[in-house]
Amino acid sequence: MTAINEVGDLTIEGDVGVLTLNSPPVNALSAPVRTAINDGIKAAIDNPAVKAIVLICDGKTFIAGADITEFGKAPSGPSLFDAQAMIENAPKPVIAAIHGTALGGGLEVALTCHYRVAVPSAKCGLPEVNLGLLPGAGGTQRLPRIVGAQKAVEMVTVGTHVGAKACKEMGLVDELVEEGKLREGAIAFANKIVAEKRPLKKVRDLNDKVEADRGHPEIFANFRKANARKFRGFLAPEYNIQCIEAAVNLPFDDGIKVEQKLFRELVTGTQSAAQRHVFFAERQVWKLPDVPADTPTIPVARVGVIGAGTMGGGISMNFLNAGIPVTIVETKQEALDRGIATIRKNYENTAKKGRLTQDDVEKRMALLTGTLALEDLADSDLVIEAVFENMEIKKDIFGKLDRIVKQGAILATNTSALNIDEIATAVKRPEAVIGLHFFSPANVMRLLEVVRADKTSKPVIATSMQIAKKIGKIAALVGVCPGFVGNRILAQRQREAQKLILEGAMPWDVDRVLYDFGFPMGPFAMSDLAGLDIGWSKEKSTGSTIREVLCEMDRRGQKTGSGFYDYDENRNAKPSPVVEKIILDFAAKQGINRRTISDQEILERCVYPMINEGAKILEEGKAIRASDIDIVWINGYGWPVYRGGPMFYGDTVGLDKVLAKMKEFQAQMGDDFKPSALLEKLVAEGKKFQSL
Ligand code: NAD
Repeated sequence: MTAINEVGDLTIEGDVGVLTLNSPPVNALSAPVRTAINDGIKAAIDNPAVKAIVLICDGKTFIAGADITEFGKAPSGPSLFDAQAMIENAPKPVIAAIHGTALGGGLEVALTCHYRVAVPSAKCGLPEVNLGLLPGAGGTQRLPRIVGAQKAVEMVTVGTHVGAKACKEMGLVDELVEEGKLREGAIAFANKIVAEKRPLKKVRDLNDKVEADRGHPEIFANFRKANARKFRGFLAPEYNIQCIEAAVNLPFDDGIKVEQKLFRELVTGTQSAAQRHVFFAERQVWKLPDVPADTPTIPVARVGVIGAGTMGGGISMNFLNAGIPVTIVETKQEALDRGIATIRKNYENTAKKGRLTQDDVEKRMALLTGTLALEDLADSDLVIEAVFENMEIKKDIFGKLDRIVKQGAILATNTSALNIDEIATAVKRPEAVIGLHFFSPANVMRLLEVVRADKTSKPVIATSMQIAKKIGKIAALVGVCPGFVGNRILAQRQREAQKLILEGAMPWDVDRVLYDFGFPMGPFAMSDLAGLDIGWSKEKSTGSTIREVLCEMDRRGQKTGSGFYDYDENRNAKPSPVVEKIILDFAAKQGINRRTISDQEILERCVYPMINEGAKILEEGKAIRASDIDIVWINGYGWPVYRGGPMFYGDTVGLDKVLAKMKEFQAQMGDDFKPSALLEKLVAEGKKFQSL
């Protein structure tokens, strides 16, 4: 065995040189790994005893991708292109031996090998698109030469990990070898290649597939059309498609130039920076500075949910899906029956779409027990209260829970905005009380705000984060304040949206600007979808807001066929002349001189106060990191991933610009725009939220 460097060694086994990489945890393509490939292949080429070369990795996986910590830094050692050229131009066959995941740069290396073998559990993919990138080491040019344009565009724009068997069918893998016997299998394959004198198969020279796709632009046109909604706003999927088009239409070397140009644009652009930020933020959010990873947790084997309404039902489904039994409590049999029937209907609908079997539905329902007796929650390990948003009712329930539920259990509330410290005064064990703020629909939305109250214990926090992971959520730990992190920031946008429509914009103007920014829908379309009558009552309505007037006219949103918009039978929205008139009358009554409001003002008025509120939240210590706030807004409110969340966006715009605008608005419109002290401080110090 010859050591090539600290992460690579070359062993000669008969006629075969085996180059083994060992760079934990995932053999990412760092400078030492590139050097090991480059120098190791060269050493094998130079060794006259070697007739074929196997490239294999130790540890849990083949090269799982680029070393993303190197992005933006000056490269050192041989480039990936150098290492790939060394492989592809080798005068002896090079065989990639794949286990684990050959992803991104890993697969691109394998594609420069003359053959690929894999164990059945291995997976291959080009997931760069998920970081706002494209495979920039020839992946977009080599892949379609094996699998054709259609499969290639699917793989590069979705970033799917394709199993080895499917890879074999596509020709991406030449041979499957027995699980656990990769090394032996790859050496046997190499000997076979030598014995059969098979030619060096360079993927770059394969032209059959791309020639067959040439002259069929509809492959790309149809793909773009079918995915227009999914790709909206993102640059990377489109650039990936353009690269595959180049592979089909241009000679290999020209295609590589296109790939390089588009890669450079993406890697230096804001979108990829944002998507990489989100990638790291999603990992960071679980790290709690004062709750160490070894904090003891509470085993959660039984969950109690109080209230079988919109939230209680959805919350229960999360646990049923994870195989955890749930007891759900209501006050009346009718409400309980309705709640349980809704859960069943949701599961049946999923089954109809083929995403659950009937057996799965029954298994989940069998884990659910309905009751009218709070006493039945006595042996729950975690109780989540999801009754009406009313402090007195919640305190009454917590007082009862304190007497009923076993010691050591977690007592959680799903309140949207109430003071959890106050709720905790209803019990003698405030350390057990925490907020678990799910988002609607609770079985679908990925975000969970874990709200730590003054006295919440560390094991309760640690368990809440752990259980969030178990039910597939992304959890952000936040502190008690009105609306917590997400809704507190939302309130800023809502306030400005309402003001803007009185000052001169129309709901559809505000919605269009925010939709174009990348939100799935604007605030008024959102209100129509949710129902304008949430929290509205006919008896108490005084026609003092536009929303009240709309509700009084029975324009209660999509469900009544009209709200801020008029809806046709397919629920397509149209601007409403009725609403326009109501708004004009309202503004006139309030003596507002309406003016033309630019799209830029709409955006800045809606978004900059959100950034400013995020800064206040950080200042008050109600969120741990700026990036946690980004996670909340991306996963709970549809903030476009390619803009990285409100705090990252603030950094991108420039905090000095945000501050200057806030001051300008403050001078014109008052203290709704008062800049936070943290924003002022960061600007004075020339820093960003990311540098906190
Ligand atoms: P909902 O009206 O749909 O459901 C509340 C249910 O609680 C009703 O079925 C009611 O019968 C039941 N209930 C009332 N008092 C009870 C008691 N003493 N014991 C047992 N059951 C009782 O309301 P919802 O939308 O599910 O909201 C529940 C909570 O979740 C509220 O605190 C709300 O602020 C919060 N929340 C709601 C949303 C949302 O989008 N709907 C999102 C996040 C949080």
